Amino acid sequence: MRLYADSEKRTLEKIVCNQCGRELKLENGIVQEGVFQGETRFGYFSGKDGERHSFDLCEECYDRLTGSFLVPVTMEEELELL
Ligand SMILES: [Zn+2]
Repeated sequence: MRLYADSEKRTLEKIVCNQCGRELKLENGIVQEGVFQGETRFGYFSGKDGERHSFDLCEECYDRLTGSFLVPVTMEEELELL
């Protein structure tokens, strides 16, 4: 869950892991640790037509969630680190 300091969503004020509730470390609006940002917009053939859902997970909760997957996540090496 993200809170922004401005209505244009330019300056990040706070990120909270939706799973465990821990506030992630921010410095000058830049997150200082691993975070997963999930966002999707449900369409006509879903039961949530027109709804946009988003959430954030800290790295530990991400690892726990993806560790329970029957099919592992697709992983590729990034040439440029963020
Ligand atoms: Zn967490």
